[in-house]
Amino acid sequence: MLSLRNYDIKYIKGIGPGRAELLASELGIRSAYDLLRHYPTAYVDRSKTYTLRSLADVAGDNAPQLQVKGRFVSFNVLGEGVRMRLVGLFTDGTATMEVVWFKNIKGIRKSVTVGQTYVLFGKPTRFMSTIQMAHPEVDVPEAATASAGLHGVYPLTEKLRQRGINARVLYGAVVALLDSRRTPLAETLPPSVVQNLGLMSLDEAIRTIHLPDDPRKLDRARQRLKFEELFYIQVDILRRSRLRKNEIQGYYMPRVGRWFNDFYSRCLPFELTGAQKRVIKEVRADITGGRQMNRLVQGDVGSGKTLVALLSMLLAVDNGYQACLMAPTEILATQHYETISGMTAAIGLNVKLLTGSTRTAARRQIASELEDGSLHILIGTHAVIEDNVQFAQLGFVVIDEQHRFGVAQRARLWGKSAVPPHVLVMTATPIPRTLAMTVYGDLDVSVIDELPPGRKPVATVMRYENQRESVNRGIRAQIAAGHQVYIVHPLIEENEKLDLRSLEEGYEATCQAFPGVPVAFVHGKMKAAEKDAQMQRFASGEAKILVATTVIEVGVNVPNATTMIIENAERFGLSQLHQLRGRVGRGADKSHCVLMTKHNIGGDTRKRLEIMTSTTDGFVIAEADMQLRGPGDIEGTMQSGLPFELKIANLARDGQIIGHARRAAEQLLDADPVLALPENAAFARSLALTVNRSTDWSKIS
Ligand code: ADP
Ligand code: MG
Repeated sequence: MLSLRNYDIKYIKGIGPGRAELLASELGIRSAYDLLRHYPTAYVDRSKTYTLRSLADVAGDNAPQLQVKGRFVSFNVLGEGVRMRLVGLFTDGTATMEVVWFKNIKGIRKSVTVGQTYVLFGKPTRFMSTIQMAHPEVDVPEAATASAGLHGVYPLTEKLRQRGINARVLYGAVVALLDSRRTPLAETLPPSVVQNLGLMSLDEAIRTIHLPDDPRKLDRARQRLKFEELFYIQVDILRRSRLRKNEIQGYYMPRVGRWFNDFYSRCLPFELTGAQKRVIKEVRADITGGRQMNRLVQGDVGSGKTLVALLSMLLAVDNGYQACLMAPTEILATQHYETISGMTAAIGLNVKLLTGSTRTAARRQIASELEDGSLHILIGTHAVIEDNVQFAQLGFVVIDEQHRFGVAQRARLWGKSAVPPHVLVMTATPIPRTLAMTVYGDLDVSVIDELPPGRKPVATVMRYENQRESVNRGIRAQIAAGHQVYIVHPLIEENEKLDLRSLEEGYEATCQAFPGVPVAFVHGKMKAAEKDAQMQRFASGEAKILVATTVIEVGVNVPNATTMIIENAERFGLSQLHQLRGRVGRGADKSHCVLMTKHNIGGDTRKRLEIMTSTTDGFVIAEADMQLRGPGDIEGTMQSGLPFELKIANLARDGQIIGHARRAAEQLLDADPVLALPENAAFARSLALTVNRSTDWSKIS
C-alpha cells in the first residue's frame, strides 16, 4: 500500500489535474491512498427498480434513495426569483410523480426530453397526496444498468458537486485505480492478527467497501476497516504507555511526614469519603513505585477532588518537593488558592497564587521563593508554565478540569524539571469506559464514585418564559431563607455582541425583578480585577444573586448557593449543563436548578434537557451525550487527542471493536514489544506513517 501514498491522483483515469486540485483542497485527497481510504458513508441499492405506484408506501422524509424508470410527460417552470423551479411530470404507467429542480433549470431543459425513457435515482417525498422527487440523478437506461447493484454514497462538498464531481466520478476513479493494479494491496495489519480474528484482507476490504456485491460481505469489510483504525490507535497508545512505564524514572516519595499528618489531624474539617481515601492510596502507590505517575482522576462535580489534590501535594512537600496546581481560569485558580491557603493556614504551609494579573512585585517574591525552595505549593493559571517560572524542585503537578487545558500547555510543564514530575489530572467530565480507553489510554485512571455524605440531588425542572414570575417567586423564597442564586446566560464567541447585550439586559431585568437585593455581575470580557471583585461579593455572601456567563462553569464553590437558573438552556451542551448544575447542591441544603427555555425547541434539544431533569449522575449524562452527539462533539480535545482522524470507526458506537482491538494490541506487544519481528515489519511501517505525531506527547498524558 505504501507506493500508493506517493501516487498522485491526477494520474488516475477520470481525474486529471483540475479535479485533483479540487479534491485536494476540498477533501484533502491527494494520493491514491487517500482516495481508497475515502470510504462511502452509506449505500443505495440500484439493483432494484420501483414502480411509481409502490412509492406511495415509502415516500416521506425517511425514505431511502431509490430508482424508478419511466418518461417525462411535460415540463413547467413555476414561481419566480429564488422560488423559481422546474417541475417535470413523470410516469411509468402505474402512477405519476413530480420531479422538481431548483437549480440548473436551463441545463436540465436542454438535456432531458419529453417522451424518452429515463432511469431516475433519488429520494421520494410526499407533498399532500403528490409524490415528488427533487434533483434526482437522471440516466438513460443503458448507463444505469452498467452501474447496477449497491452504490456507495461518498462524503462530498457542495463545491465538488457544483463542479460535477459526484459519487459516480469518485466511484469511477476507484474502479480505474483498482483495475490498473496487477497486484493486490499489501496487508497493513500483522498477519497474526488477521489470522486470529479471521479478518478480511485489506485488498478485499477496500474493494468491497467501494464496490460491494453482497451486504454481508460489505459488513465484514467495514468491520475490518474499523478494526484497523482502532487497532492502530490502541497499539500506538499501549506502546507509548509501556515505554513510559519501563523507561521513565519518577521521583521517589516514600515519606508521609509532618505536613500531611498535621493537616490530616488538625485541619481536615470532615472525614474523607471512601473514594477519596482510595484515590489517595493509589497516588501513594504510584509515587513510591519509582516510576513517573500519570494519573487521571475522574470524579463527578462536587465529589471532592480538590482535597485529594491537596493531600497528594502534601505528600510531595513532605518529601522535599514543590508542587503546583494549574486551573483553566483565573477565577478557578483564585478559588483554589483561597480554599487551599485557608485550609492550610493553621499549619503554616507556604502557598502562593500566580495568574496573568499578578503584580510584578508579587511575581518577584514568588520567583525568589520558588528558587530558594521555600514556596511549597504554587497555584495558578497557565501563567505557571511560562518560561520564566523556575522551580527549585518541582515534583508534583495537578491539572484541574483538564479538558480546558491544551495538550501543548501540558507539554511545556514537562520542561520544568529534569526528571518529569508526577502528574495528576483531574476531570469532572466523566467519559464512558470505551472512550476513556482510547482517549486516555496511557493514563492510569482513578474514579471518585462517591459524593460526600448528606448531598441531596439537585431538583431540576424545565420552565418557559411565560412562567418567569413563578420562577422569580422561587428565587425570592430562597433568598428570604438566606441562600444565594446563580443566573447564567449563554455567551458564545460567534454571537458575542448580541449575547453580551442580552446578558446586560438580563442583568438589568434581574435588578428590576428583585429590588433591594444586591446582585453581582460577572462575564469573561471584564477586567480581571473587576471580575474578582464581583466574585468576591458573591462568595462572601454580600451579593445574593450572581448574574454570569459560563465563566463560572467549572470549579466555583459557594456552598450557600442553592439555586441555579440557566437562561436559554437549549443553547448549552449536556456536559456544560451538568457542570453548571454542579455549582449548586454543594452544601447540606436542598438545591434547585431551573432550565429556562423557549417553547419551540427541537426533538434532540428537548431530549437533552429531559436527561438533565431525569438524572444527576454525570456518567449517565456523559453516556447520553455521546449517544446524542457522537464522541467527536463531546470535547474537541478528545478527538484531537487521537493520533489521526477516524474515517470509519466511531468511538461511541464501536465499543466492542475497541475492546477487541485493545486485546489484540496487548497480545501483539507482548510477543513483539518494539515491533521488530520481520512478519510485523509492514504493519510497523504503515503504523509509523499513519500515526505521524508531530510532537512526542507520550510523556504528558
Ligand atoms: P470537585 O470534585 O467538584 O472539585 P470540590 O473539591 O470543590 O469538588 O468539593 C466540593 C465540596 O465538597 C467542597 O465544599 C468541599 O469542601 C466538600 N467536601 C470535599 N470532600 C468532602 C468530604 N469528604 N466530606 C464533606 N465535604 C467534602
Ligand atoms: Mg473542582
